Amino acid sequence: MSSIKWWIAGDNIIKVWKACKGRTHIVEAATIRARMMTGKYILQTTRSRYNQYKVDATCPLCESMDEDMTHLLVVCTELHSIRSRNREKLRKAYDDEGTVCSVSDREWYYAILNGGEYISEDGELVRVCEAETFDILCSRMCYDLHVERDKAINMKFMNQAD
Ligand SMILES: [Zn+2]
Repeated sequence: MSSIKWWIAGDNIIKVWKACKGRTHIVEAATIRARMMTGKYILQTTRSRYNQYKVDATCPLCESMDEDMTHLLVVCTELHSIRSRNREKLRKAYDDEGTVCSVSDREWYYAILNGGEYISEDGELVRVCEAETFDILCSRMCYDLHVERDKAINMKFMNQAD
């Protein structure tokens, strides 16, 4: 899959925080998602681009291709179970809203970063879900992927140290 250019609406970054209502555990998840939305989340491709020493851009988890945001959110096989578990919750929240429309994988993942909004393949702005719970679930998914990635990287380093 080629790299997706993430589309982020300015208003959506504000919504991420509004949905938290000051609840600490949600704020933490929202922080991670906000970093992903604004390109401040450090991935291997970022490291490799900005580090003066030679850093490999390859995903430290699956080691099969460069790790960028698309890879983390959509592609990496090592994060598959976390992704599908969260996606199931999102799907349910989405169904509860009663909105029926077909959403492609690509559009679906735009929606995760934007909390339910995405630009369709025809360039139209589509709102998948209005519910605030959906926004929180989106942050939760980003957070779970982040935690799992961190855990896997630490494990790898520990095994190398042996
Ligand atoms: Zn990977």
